[in-house]
Amino acid sequence: MDLLNTLVDKGLRRETPTRAEALAVLATTDDELLDVVAAAGKVRRHWFGRRVKLNYLVNLKSGLCPEDCSYCSQRLGSKADILKYTWLKPDEASRAAAAGLAGGAKRVCLVASGRGPTDRDVDRVSDTIKAIKEQNEDVEVCACLGLLSDGQAERLREAGADAYNHNLNTSESTYGEITTTHTYADRVDTVRKAHAAGLSACSGLIAGMGETDEDLVDVVFSLRELDPDSVPVNFLIPFEGTPLAKEWNLTPQRCLRILAMVRFVCPDVEVRIAGGREVHLRTMQPLALHLANSIFLGDYLTSEGQAGKADLEMIADAGFEVEGAGEVTLPEHRTGGGCGSHEGSRCGSHEGGGVCGTVPASAPAASASADEPRPDLVAVRRRGAGTDLAPNA
Ligand code: SF4
Repeated sequence: MDLLNTLVDKGLRRETPTRAEALAVLATTDDELLDVVAAAGKVRRHWFGRRVKLNYLVNLKSGLCPEDCSYCSQRLGSKADILKYTWLKPDEASRAAAAGLAGGAKRVCLVASGRGPTDRDVDRVSDTIKAIKEQNEDVEVCACLGLLSDGQAERLREAGADAYNHNLNTSESTYGEITTTHTYADRVDTVRKAHAAGLSACSGLIAGMGETDEDLVDVVFSLRELDPDSVPVNFLIPFEGTPLAKEWNLTPQRCLRILAMVRFVCPDVEVRIAGGREVHLRTMQPLALHLANSIFLGDYLTSEGQAGKADLEMIADAGFEVEGAGEVTLPEHRTGGGCGSHEGSRCGSHEGGGVCGTVPASAPAASASADEPRPDLVAVRRRGAGTDLAPNA
């Protein structure tokens, strides 16, 4: 396929595909799917070999958010029966993080619900970062606290944060249909603040919210322009009790095409499969490792993921290896420190609803077809941070 040869060549040169080429990837047929995966897999291996980076989520504060992001189980008015708790203490967060690190994670993502942190919240998170780093010198810490005010990114950086996550989630033109309490521009502004403060920017998307192919391509091209180091790709978990509960729009094949498109547009960037992996990729998860070089280990913010042990077995069985603490994730040309100046060569997780993942609550129905809703696969998190039960890692 000429399209795929062209996209591989461009990916190896870090050249931006055209919008038409990105749209064509999303329009490929099921007969062409393995060729698409193989092509994007070449680009993935060129820049990241067979390494898989493991990230571990610690939900510092759950639920009770005043914002109205439609995809999010923690939103204002959410009827989802999730865990609700206020700020974990630094030693509680540090214990949760330690479980993930012992399981093989090299990055800990500290996430809190809410529009954005107060200065007092930044102090709390700073204390938490220090507590984690005292115990684990090599750990990467990413904060995900919502919209940042002036100076807060710098304070997090000084406290030892390595990265900041804030997702664009969807295209600028449809953002207002998803959230009304803040704007797309607010989100872009926070990613820029993180970048400017020398934090590694992490910003991604949520697929499956009823968006068009054009919306998906728009948001991925916007991400490339923003130049984050990591791009989490969430697949919407349609939580009962949220406005998007009936939006079951994804099949495993569609998820693979989306990941391939993101890889072609952001070839040398850490592409992470985030929330919804178990719900939407299901038995196709190992194939997605040929496209993404990063996943979350264990549970998500408000829902349960497959067992951490199953994540590790999947990686080994598929012929990949967990990236060690001493290995650098990004290609050398991206590690010289906050670049952002070279044209379009980069493209880089707040809860993004998507990071709220899943685990089979019961055995899957034997007759399930690829495009059937699978609410049976969505299980609210009842263990780990904010509970007395051991975390999944
Ligand atoms: S995504 Fe973040 S800001 Fe939006 S409702 Fe959920 S917790 Fe609140």
